[in-house]
Amino acid sequence: ATMPPLLSAIANAGRHGVLVKSAVVMERLGQVDAVAIDKTGTLTEGTPQVTDVRPLAESGLTEEELLALAAAAEHPSEHPLARAVVDAARARGLRLAVAEDFDSAPGLGVRATVDGGVVAVGSPARMLGCREGHPASEVAARLEAGGRTAVLVELDGTPVGVLGIADRLREEAAETVAALSSLSDGAPVLVTGDNERAAARLAGEVGITDVRAGLLPQDKVRTVQEMSAAGRRVLVIGDGVNDAPALAAAHSGIAMGRAGSDLALETADAVVVRDELRTIPTVVALSRRARALVV
Ligand code: ADP
Ligand code: MG
Repeated sequence: ATMPPLLSAIANAGRHGVLVKSAVVMERLGQVDAVAIDKTGTLTEGTPQVTDVRPLAESGLTEEELLALAAAAEHPSEHPLARAVVDAARARGLRLAVAEDFDSAPGLGVRATVDGGVVAVGSPARMLGCREGHPASEVAARLEAGGRTAVLVELDGTPVGVLGIADRLREEAAETVAALSSLSDGAPVLVTGDNERAAARLAGEVGITDVRAGLLPQDKVRTVQEMSAAGRRVLVIGDGVNDAPALAAAHSGIAMGRAGSDLALETADAVVVRDELRTIPTVVALSRRARALVV
């Protein structure tokens, strides 16, 4: 027997390295007319590197002490930024204390007890909040203006330093954004928990003008709901725990498989197993062709 079009499209998507979970999913993918795409780990490679270690003068910490504290707290986390911090500490041969009472908040950061002190590592904007003029927020702003993701480190509620982290844009990011733009109704919307400055800079490099930065997971969901309420069928592309609710709320959700969190992979309708962003517009096109054959 000849294979039904949607099933052969699934097989075809598999050859491109994309796991589409069902025929229903395959069919819905071709209906999308708008895209909301995550930044870290999705448009970027997801293997960020620590580029700057900046203890605050008043903390009395050395660079190595700051990095070791942050890495100890980040050790239990699966976030790409956490891995960058732990790898940087290892690369300098630092010994990491064991973290206790670890807790993480998607889109915010982590908190743990290290050597009897409470260490928090995360978004400077969220953690500093109203302490705008704080020296840490100036250091963070300078790093962000340079396209870095700045991460604040606090010890017992006091800022002690800032780390600068950079992730490379995927080589095929701009061409994929262009392909998605022509398949949908305009360019994708960038939805990211990262800071406005770094997000805007990267958006400019790939041809995205609609940037929503500093979003918590529920803000990503709200963005999808607003687009849906405006009559759009939204494809969400993401990789993190912080993307899972938006992946679930979308008309179709696709997760990046290699560095993606388990929750994102389970929630998404399809998974990019081969870690090539450009396969996503290809699969949408496959779905459209298959749908044209299904009467
Ligand atoms: P994105 O939406 O770009 O994938 P996330 O929502 O995962 O980004 O993270 C948003 C922000 O929250 C980060 O830029 C960082 O400031 C902070 N953050 C989240 N998790 C961590 C972590 N494990 N360590 C440090 N900072 C974190
Ligand atoms: Mg991400």
